[in-house]
Amino acid sequence: MKHTPRTHYRACNLCEAICGLEIQVSGDEILSIRGDQEDPLSQGHICPKGVALQDIYQDPDRLRQPVRRTATGWETISWTEAFDEVATRLQHLQATAGRSAVGVYLGNPNTHNFGTTLFLPDFLRSLKTPSLFSATSADQLPHHFVAYLMFGHYFLLPVPDLDRTDYLLVLGANPLVSNGSLMTAPAFPKRMRAIQARGRVVVVDPRRTETADKADEHLFIRPGTDALFLLAIVHTLFAEGLVQLGALADHVKNLEPVAAAVQAYTPERVAASTGVAAAKIKAISREFAAAERAVCYGRMGVSTQEFGGLCNWLVNLVNILTGNFDRPCGAMFTTPAVDTVLPNRAGKLGRWSSRVSQHPERFGELPVAALTDEILTPGDGQIRALVTSAGNPVLSTANGAALDEALGQLDFMVAIDIYLNETTRHAHIILPPTTGLETTHYDVVFHTLAVRNTAKFSEPCFEKTADQRHDYEIFQELTRRLTGGTYDPPFATPTQMVDAGLRFGAYGKTGLSVQQLQDHPHGIDLGPLQPVLPGRLFTEDKKIDLAPASLLADLVRLDGQLVELDNVAPDFPLRLIGRRQLRSNNSWMHNSQRLVKGGDRCTLLVHPDDAAAAGMVAGQVVTVQSAVGSLQIAVEISDEVMPGVVSIPHGWGHTRRGTQQAVAEAHPGVSMNDITDPHLLDALTGNAVFNGVPVRVVTG
Ligand code: SF4
Repeated sequence: MKHTPRTHYRACNLCEAICGLEIQVSGDEILSIRGDQEDPLSQGHICPKGVALQDIYQDPDRLRQPVRRTATGWETISWTEAFDEVATRLQHLQATAGRSAVGVYLGNPNTHNFGTTLFLPDFLRSLKTPSLFSATSADQLPHHFVAYLMFGHYFLLPVPDLDRTDYLLVLGANPLVSNGSLMTAPAFPKRMRAIQARGRVVVVDPRRTETADKADEHLFIRPGTDALFLLAIVHTLFAEGLVQLGALADHVKNLEPVAAAVQAYTPERVAASTGVAAAKIKAISREFAAAERAVCYGRMGVSTQEFGGLCNWLVNLVNILTGNFDRPCGAMFTTPAVDTVLPNRAGKLGRWSSRVSQHPERFGELPVAALTDEILTPGDGQIRALVTSAGNPVLSTANGAALDEALGQLDFMVAIDIYLNETTRHAHIILPPTTGLETTHYDVVFHTLAVRNTAKFSEPCFEKTADQRHDYEIFQELTRRLTGGTYDPPFATPTQMVDAGLRFGAYGKTGLSVQQLQDHPHGIDLGPLQPVLPGRLFTEDKKIDLAPASLLADLVRLDGQLVELDNVAPDFPLRLIGRRQLRSNNSWMHNSQRLVKGGDRCTLLVHPDDAAAAGMVAGQVVTVQSAVGSLQIAVEISDEVMPGVVSIPHGWGHTRRGTQQAVAEAHPGVSMNDITDPHLLDALTGNAVFNGVPVRVVTG
């Protein structure tokens, strides 16, 4: 049958950038995927992953119906049978072994699907388990922790006003590749060029990343020492009289304790530890303070290290103390059309702890580093069943190899996932939701973190078949069964919920609704970020706390580790860091041929001096060892990493048996997380450490 080609406009929900896409389809075939030139946020930008949405839609390896593991392999079962069995087994375990016996792990893509974002909480409430884990504690938890302490709400995260700043200082982030993280900034390359036309971009990173390579200046910094670098900047601001709060003076408190706390951190004192000369730290401090419009931005590299909480606090301080906060050009809060920063969800800390390692909960979650011990250690509260949703923690969390073994010992596991991957292969039942182009979408999370206020509603390109279920339908069905049929949500669909959010939101009075967004398929521009202090703050006194007690106290921990930071451990003389790649999306997009083609990208980057000292040559397969494990990987010699630092991209390692991802298995790489250490944590926030892991390289 001949179909009339049709054009769809929608937001890409693969990463945080939410680029607008123009998709030509005919029948159930995709003819083309391009950037939508009229999208008010992304202005035509697209990356190779966006085009690969076609591959996910067509992927023969993708699961489309529930499957159950049997002694002889996987069998397809009906949705009713699957829901009944999952609910019955989870209920039975909780009834006999307690609420905590059922654990939950949530992967990063959950936040990119509004059905999951809006209906997963009901499912979690029906389980009432304290054994909740997610990718947050392997990623951005320090940002939330600091936001809660300083601004009173864990999701009130400041975003750099990229389009109006003249001076961008970047630490531990690679937005030229990521298009922003906790800073939705599609078309970052264009935005960066515009900043450079107006002023300067400076990058501080142990690797000369793609962003650093194009920046006006790049400073190498020793992994794990960013807190010291930032402390010295704040010290210099006070020491040289560069603190200029301006209009912020009325909205902050506890300036004096900050001045006292940073007094000891002179640029001279931290220079050796950080590898950044004292004169350079002073120069950057002065430049930043003198810039008419500046903003400091830190992300993954400063979040996933031992002092991630301190780093995020200090990034905020640099912006606030120079007056570059809540004003056009600086770090600003967004005014999203659907507001997820709700008063009744400000966050809570420390209400319970992990049973084995005694790590305190953060915003309802335990650190994922504690998950393996919670499964393996017998006793009251032991996790005996696990629910995973859109996650692959075997590849994405520290010492994934140990977790891999632990998952094999569970009594029951259910995965809500589209792939049979390194983690879900342990499941007894897999429930695959629709995904990508088959779903309606409104990005409730990443509009809240975008560098410009916009709103966009996406219709599905393809209707689901009778045998498919949307993610929210899966969570609704499970919740219904777990609550004995009493579940009666106020909204039947995420679209209805978003419509209510739009009507009662900041632009509701202007008539913003789902219908209006459907009438404007490219999206609606709601304007640049606006100053919102003090009204947007959630602190009781409507002031920003510049010196939360737990952050000041954490300086003592930092001081206690200065000797370790300064010295190279003889057993493990190198520091391992990760790296983000444009054609990779954490652990889950390696089953697209167009994204994995070309040479092996999962290599060990080694500085030429270190390679020469150890007699390594390019392409040689070496063994990298840490305190918890070892892996074998080919060497790539490059001065893009500083001496003493080696780098492996994360998310690879598709070597486990029993997965069903033919393309990924043909391009396996190795898992960096086979050698990262779950005992290496930011003790303050509970976040995992992926940057600065001590390792050695063995040749021969
Ligand atoms: S940058 Fe992110 S949102 Fe944009 S096309 Fe690529 S994957 Fe999609």
